[in-house]
Amino acid sequence: MAKINHNYRKLSAGYLFPEIGRRINLFQRDNPDKKVHRLGIGNTTEPLTPTVVEGLREGTDRLANIETYSGYGDEQGEEALRTELARFYANRGVSLDPDEFFISDGAKPDAGNIQSIFSTDNRVAVQDPAYPVYVDTNVVAGRTGAFDPQRGNYAGLVYMVCNRENNFIPDPPAEHVDLVYLCSPNNPTGAVATHRELQKFVDYAREHQAVLIFDAAYAEFISDPGLPRSIYEVDGAKECAIEINSFSKLAGFTGVRLGWSVVPKALVVADSEPEEVHRLWFRRQTTFFNGASNIAQHGGLAVLSAKGLEECAELISYYMENARIISEGLKSVGLTFYGGVNAPYLWLKTPGKMTSWEFFDKLLYEAQVVGTPGSGFGPSGEGYFRLSAFGHRSSITEAVQSIQAGLKL
Ligand SMILES: *Cc1c(COP(=O)(O)O)cnc(C)c1O
Repeated sequence: MAKINHNYRKLSAGYLFPEIGRRINLFQRDNPDKKVHRLGIGNTTEPLTPTVVEGLREGTDRLANIETYSGYGDEQGEEALRTELARFYANRGVSLDPDEFFISDGAKPDAGNIQSIFSTDNRVAVQDPAYPVYVDTNVVAGRTGAFDPQRGNYAGLVYMVCNRENNFIPDPPAEHVDLVYLCSPNNPTGAVATHRELQKFVDYAREHQAVLIFDAAYAEFISDPGLPRSIYEVDGAKECAIEINSFSKLAGFTGVRLGWSVVPKALVVADSEPEEVHRLWFRRQTTFFNGASNIAQHGGLAVLSAKGLEECAELISYYMENARIISEGLKSVGLTFYGGVNAPYLWLKTPGKMTSWEFFDKLLYEAQVVGTPGSGFGPSGEGYFRLSAFGHRSSITEAVQSIQAGLKL
């Protein structure tokens, strides 16, 4: 008699985006002639850049030719791509071996799968609010108790509260944990951790023999040269941190699918042999995954070329100009918000004591603008609201004008 994995039943969220959709449909049914502006999407909207398109095309052309055709590739990812990634890190003063990189089909799968190489009795800490994959995959793996709908949290999980008092970057937990998920620049708050703040986590991890899982998917959105773009810019991180990153937001690869993770050979945990964590991730990937698309990897090589990186920087500037336009708009109506400077997300404080969902309805009905309720990212997201800078310039401008014209504060 087969049985399901009952941990799936514990999952609370997943209702966030369907609920947003339901409320938009309801609004459109009653207001069929009104145009809804979306500032809620965490998805890229602008086309791939010419150099990158050429790289993908070349990757495809190679498959059309008997001399250059290839089937399954190196399980860890094409060596040329891992070498370019090592060079990409070296250019910011981080020295890693190409062998420490693992190419994947994206940062979300890696962020979800990485927990499987650690014991199920490990204690896990997450930022609150957080990108849901860190929480949900640990729920499914059985590292938590039940969801408490009153408090909006899971028993057994340690929540590191991110609020205005700590500029949305928490201190390490006061108690002992084994795995710590960090995301900087942060989705959803747009906050970026400094070297000093990350150093505290590295020190904590080394003291507790804990592992940091650092999601750097928005690293290239950092314009302030004083802020770290990789956890390995922090002393001691190679002994305790895994970094996860992606071509999705860097190059618009959300639909192409390509990411990487770094598991340094120097990383050890309480009961591991030297290099064993690195070997376990290799084992996990070769057992469950057959490598990223060779076409996508060829595109990735083009992204990392000098020309490709230049074009991708322009693409990112385009989104960050959107963020600036949204920021100016919010300021003009007197709304309080954070982020939007080194990250494509703005984290808006709802006016007065409004809940995230109350503000969702207000923004939808008064300004026809859709965002994402902060409470959907964890209990400390209550009273906040995420706006995204991904979108065509015209939609962004229209949305901002609609807020200025319609929102009653
Ligand atoms: C968009 C995003 C990713 C990227 O995921 P992919 O699977 O590579 O598309 C990873 N982490 C965060 C926090 C994100 O917002």
